[in-house]
Amino acid sequence: MARILLLHTGGTLGMAPEGDPSSLAPGPYLEHVLERVPELRDLAELQVEVPFNRDSASMEPEHILGLARHIRERVATFDGVVLIHGTDTMAFTASLLGFLLADLGKPVVITGSQRPLAYVRSDARENLVDAVDLATRGVNEVGIVFGTRWLRGVATDKLSVYRYEAFDSPNLAPLAEIGMDLVIHPGAGKFERRVPKGLGAAFESAIAVYRPFPGMPWHLPTDGIRGLLLETYGAGNLPMERGDLLALLRHCRERKMPVVVTTQCASGAVDMEAYALGRALGVEGGISAGRHTRWAALAKLGLLLGTGADVEAVREAFGTSWAGEPI
Ligand code: ASP
Repeated sequence: MARILLLHTGGTLGMAPEGDPSSLAPGPYLEHVLERVPELRDLAELQVEVPFNRDSASMEPEHILGLARHIRERVATFDGVVLIHGTDTMAFTASLLGFLLADLGKPVVITGSQRPLAYVRSDARENLVDAVDLATRGVNEVGIVFGTRWLRGVATDKLSVYRYEAFDSPNLAPLAEIGMDLVIHPGAGKFERRVPKGLGAAFESAIAVYRPFPGMPWHLPTDGIRGLLLETYGAGNLPMERGDLLALLRHCRERKMPVVVTTQCASGAVDMEAYALGRALGVEGGISAGRHTRWAALAKLGLLLGTGADVEAVREAFGTSWAGEPI
């Protein structure tokens, strides 16, 4: 029988109506899970660990870098890993782990739920069963299973606070569809791995994110900011006639700060050649993030800045798919 390492890091799935979720310990937690989802015993031999128990909105990059190290240290005697995580920042964690564990050689299946496992009509039970099942299948992916789909982590975003299909990978087909059967796409696990060596010792969070709206003042970033992420309109457009925006972009150029251009839209790619405004943003130094989700773009930028990478290295990285992320 497959051996699966089940790591619980927090979120709604493990929250109990009556208790303080911070009191979870591996023993009682496993009993709680197996009591409610006994069929997990038919799928795999589980070993449970609770590295920490947090609402994922309180997750810091250091927690995720630590998880990546922990998984590498522990994975040798397991066939796969299931990571239970809150949904709020799951797409960011999935992006970071997708990069950091691209070469792990074993499945890492991330899941959580919209309703706690202990509640009636919870989605936790099915998500857990599907996650453990997928983790036994030997597909080398770091992915999110939620609702009826398994999605490549570096391509995901949370789309709903309500629906049981809470996640999507808007620019990439699902890795698996889950209905009566679990149908894994033939392309799952098959992508070039080009993650640069030496990432993951540090993550630089001093990134300013601007999400424009018409009329927004373009303030200069505060001292200490090392990079910018612009969630631009559509295909990469901004009001390039605005003097304060031009001053901001000049400020970044003078300080050799990368300016990464993503889109506010839920799907599709940045194409800075499509409009005059996008072209002008490119001339002022904007680096197109193409099809990267905002989470994959943030994860990539923070990891690169964590190694002291310069603007050119950032530009090259956004033109390269490191771990199957659409570019
Ligand atoms: N706030 C929770 C979390 O992200 C939400 C959830 O898990 O659904 O930890």
